[in-house]
Amino acid sequence: MATPPTSIKARQQEGLLELQWPHATYRLPYRYLRGRCPCASCVDEFTGIRVVDIADVPVAIAPTDVRFSGNYALKIVWNDRHDTGLFTWDYLELLANELAAAQGAATSE
Ligand SMILES: [Zn+2]
Repeated sequence: MATPPTSIKARQQEGLLELQWPHATYRLPYRYLRGRCPCASCVDEFTGIRVVDIADVPVAIAPTDVRFSGNYALKIVWNDRHDTGLFTWDYLELLANELAAAQGAATSE
């Protein structure tokens, strides 16, 4: 995905971030996003092993600030004060696909 989303909405009641592109809308739960944070303190940069996973994230997690980092990523500041994660458009797309696959697998059982 080369372009920024046309719309970003934080849906506090549903606890998810809604990102809209002309061809797609992604709805990503806060806790899922925070648990998939790609930064160096959440994923060991040498081993690639995830240090902070979804199970480690507080249920009441929510962004306190969401802003563009250049035109290639979102920088999310969380209410647990974590703010080093950059979510590129490609990474957000990957997360949305991963989530859709997980939900598809869950409903087909
Ligand atoms: Zn992180």
